[in-house]
Amino acid sequence: MLEKYYEILEGKRKSKYLVNKNRMEKLIEKAEEIYRNCHFCEHRCHINRYEKVGKCRVKETSIASHFYHYGEEPMLIPSYTIFFSGCTFYCVYCQNWDISQYEAGIYIEPEKMAFLIEKAEGKARNVNWVGGEPTPHLLYILKVLKECNANLPQIWNSNMYCSNETMDILNYIIDVYLTDFKYGNDKCAYRLSKIKNYWEIVTRNHEIAYRQGEMIIRHLVLPNHIECCSKPIIEWIAENVPEAIVNVMDQYYPTYKAFEYEEINRRLSLEEYNKAYNYAKKLGLQVI
Ligand code: SF4
Repeated sequence: MLEKYYEILEGKRKSKYLVNKNRMEKLIEKAEEIYRNCHFCEHRCHINRYEKVGKCRVKETSIASHFYHYGEEPMLIPSYTIFFSGCTFYCVYCQNWDISQYEAGIYIEPEKMAFLIEKAEGKARNVNWVGGEPTPHLLYILKVLKECNANLPQIWNSNMYCSNETMDILNYIIDVYLTDFKYGNDKCAYRLSKIKNYWEIVTRNHEIAYRQGEMIIRHLVLPNHIECCSKPIIEWIAENVPEAIVNVMDQYYPTYKAFEYEEINRRLSLEEYNKAYNYAKKLGLQVI
């Protein structure tokens, strides 16, 4: 995994969005249609986003921040990271709740954002579309890429609750999927993120993303969720997307509304982390 990512960085290959530049108008048209009857994610609000906000609370794109990020996985840094506001999830322990759950940031004209990305070429190793969640902002991202010519790998940093239609568009523009695989079952997903049908949608999208591009899966280990979440996720990865790079993350801390949920109202213990990490190693995952 990540061979193509490195080839883009070495100038031996073009980023997918540059290869498909001649399709950009068509992709924008398609995204406009989705935007007017929004189904970028599986909430499928079916509202006109020019007039209303949906469950993600996003109408027009707003960007909370954009900068060279040094806190991502070693092969990704420095990463030119664009943080959108709004999210399709409502995680009670969200570490970016100030931008994901509330309106934050400003609109930056796509031409200007394209210019900023071009300036990042040679300094950053990629463009990292994140939030909150990038899914509600796909139309904006396409408008930026239409104006942009930087040969930088494009990273989709997402909770993967995207619709099939969104996944189809991503196939033409995204080089690396940096996914956040949170829960091993629907009950925990609903309890902690108020999301329905999590497992079916997120596993479907991981399978699609694995076919479409390269993949790094993040799994933030939650206290008391090893048996119900970490283990089923690790087993699913081993069986279905075995070549994906996996980051088993230990940095959970209770924040936002997590204090109201007894089982996650503390940091992760070393014993819990080791259980998840060692299980991933035992099943042969490509753990970093
Ligand atoms: S992106 Fe937002 S408005 Fe569109 S379907 Fe998802 S939650 Fe609803």
